[in-house]
Amino acid sequence: MIKITEITKNITLFTGTSSVNSTLIEYENFVIVIDTMLLPKDSKELAKLIKKKNKPVKYILNTHWHSDHCYGNRFVKDENTTIIAHKKFLETITSEKNVLYPGRKNIIENSNLVFPNITFSEKLILNENPELHFLHFPGHSPDSSIIWIPSEKIIVAGDNILNSNSRKIAVPYFFWGNPEELLLSLKKIKDLQPKIILPGHGMPTVLNKVDKDILYLQNIIEKYRKMATSIQSKKFLNLSETDLIPNTKPEDFWVHKMHTMNISKMNKIYKINFSEEK
Ligand SMILES: [Zn+2]
Repeated sequence: MIKITEITKNITLFTGTSSVNSTLIEYENFVIVIDTMLLPKDSKELAKLIKKKNKPVKYILNTHWHSDHCYGNRFVKDENTTIIAHKKFLETITSEKNVLYPGRKNIIENSNLVFPNITFSEKLILNENPELHFLHFPGHSPDSSIIWIPSEKIIVAGDNILNSNSRKIAVPYFFWGNPEELLLSLKKIKDLQPKIILPGHGMPTVLNKVDKDILYLQNIIEKYRKMATSIQSKKFLNLSETDLIPNTKPEDFWVHKMHTMNISKMNKIYKINFSEEK
């Protein structure tokens, strides 16, 4: 069952399984949909809810090409929909396939993916009213991009920002991307001074969530840099979320696995092979 949250008169947030979000922006004669969910039952329900508006889907914007944000394109698009994504979309979906389904060949060709008609590299402005700025803000993945709606001061952040559906803290998640790039992108999000942030997963949030994410990233990067130049490297092997965000307890965090995946990425970047360190 999709949860519906009205953000403004024209902007609606839909939340499906795994708290994944899609955003609908309604214009006078058409709608724009940002992300299309993963499970057919969710995407079909999403398509039904969008059809209630009785307006064509002019654009689908995919914030990044992880399956939970683009698999539903086939259900949500209509005949004349233009799908837009960053030009590195294929790099992102391919690496997801290789990690999640190693050895499966031709999955890209054989799957139900509906590819973008238009790609961009840095910035694409959709000159509608309200105007949308589709900006390449990598970090969560190489193609991650945000949608900035200047007139509303709203950001649709994709998975560069994750939020839980409770009070639990979701850490920034860069296993598929790059922590330094994510840090830079979060700082750029701060510079835009949004009033509302619609995350890739979970409830709408505001800038103090970004501050917490920045703290987590700064701390993890700093600790790994120090470790790289120290001979006491084993000291940080068990780095937990609570070491990175002060005044937190382990039970304060949402989906612990994202942190462990981040750590495995850091180990890879800093070329630490734990099996040799027994
Ligand atoms: Zn996602």
